[in-house]
Amino acid sequence: MSRVYLDYNATAPIRPQVQDAVAQALGFGNASAVHAEGRRARAAVETARASLAEFCGAVPEGIVFTSGGTEACNLALSMRAAPAGKIQRILTSAVEHAAVGQAAAASGLVVDVVPVDENGVIDLTALDAALSTPDPALVCVMVANNETGVLQPIHEIAERVAAHGSLLFCDGVQAAGKIPLSLEDLACDALAVSAHKIGGPMGVGALLTRPGLVVSPNIFGGGQELGRRGGSENVAGIVGFGLAAKLSADELARAPALGEKRDRLETDLRAGVPEIRIFGADAPRLSNTSCFGLAGLHSETVVMALDLAGISVSAGAACSSGKVSRSHVLDAMGVEHDVSSGAIRVSLGRDTNDTDCDRLVESWLKLASKLEHAAAQ
Ligand code: PLP
Repeated sequence: MSRVYLDYNATAPIRPQVQDAVAQALGFGNASAVHAEGRRARAAVETARASLAEFCGAVPEGIVFTSGGTEACNLALSMRAAPAGKIQRILTSAVEHAAVGQAAAASGLVVDVVPVDENGVIDLTALDAALSTPDPALVCVMVANNETGVLQPIHEIAERVAAHGSLLFCDGVQAAGKIPLSLEDLACDALAVSAHKIGGPMGVGALLTRPGLVVSPNIFGGGQELGRRGGSENVAGIVGFGLAAKLSADELARAPALGEKRDRLETDLRAGVPEIRIFGADAPRLSNTSCFGLAGLHSETVVMALDLAGISVSAGAACSSGKVSRSHVLDAMGVEHDVSSGAIRVSLGRDTNDTDCDRLVESWLKLASKLEHAAAQ
């Protein structure tokens, strides 16, 4: 039986057209060189920059290509020059990705963590309180959460941050390609995106900044990316990113159809096991993501059992070591540990069909019923 891939939030498989374009661009020259090979590479990089700018409502000059979403988030955290003075503190939500949370912790600045409610939505009253002191802050809030898909009220946050004279950075890595995402519409100062979440290659991302924002480099070298990120550009990766952005823009209209599949999947799971907990279900969410748990199950065991059944999903937060650690996101939402320790994340994408969802439902319900039998013995 063919495998079922339901882990698009971890990585969306590269689009065949993008793979071909990347393979071809691997033969290009160094984009900083002045000869014909270099000029060809430069032209390809700038075409990709223009596509990404259009995809994300940014200006091409405001884009800094990086080695991925993580580096883009780290670079954003080095923004220090607020209009009202020097930034001395960082405010983050309690559910940020480690690319933001750990970079904030390592920044040497004061870090205040703003709590979220039981659905994982930022507490705006707590944000107001954190912004009640006059010193400017760098506020970091993700657009969509990688584990639950929950969307943050970025417009409301942006109004508050601007009124305070602070800076707003949004991690848009999971939102890109799943909802329309525009730096201009969000009214944030900077936005991070990553190619492999939208069907591009891994190892390339970008920080998009509003015109005039000063970004100090974290990587020093030959002055590439207008002095904001040293190092020869990853030409092939950037070409793939630009094409993936273009193709994703064309596909956004299909997001509601994906939402119907996800909703049916959740309805079927609930019908089989009414005690199932679906995290963030009462908040606006990405239409492709479902994160759910059941007391008594263990994420690692569930992920392995589903893998044996030919289905790929994640255990909440995927960890680089392959080991599943406790989810800080579900902790911040106040989910009891016996429920969160059995949580899995199912994320649908462009090739997901109804049969894939049915197989997931059937396999997960089997695991849940084993639990019931064990309890009855
Ligand atoms: N931010 C979020 C919300 C993510 O989900 C991820 C990756 O999963 C990242 C940042 C890091 O992106 P990358 O894998 O491109 O380094």
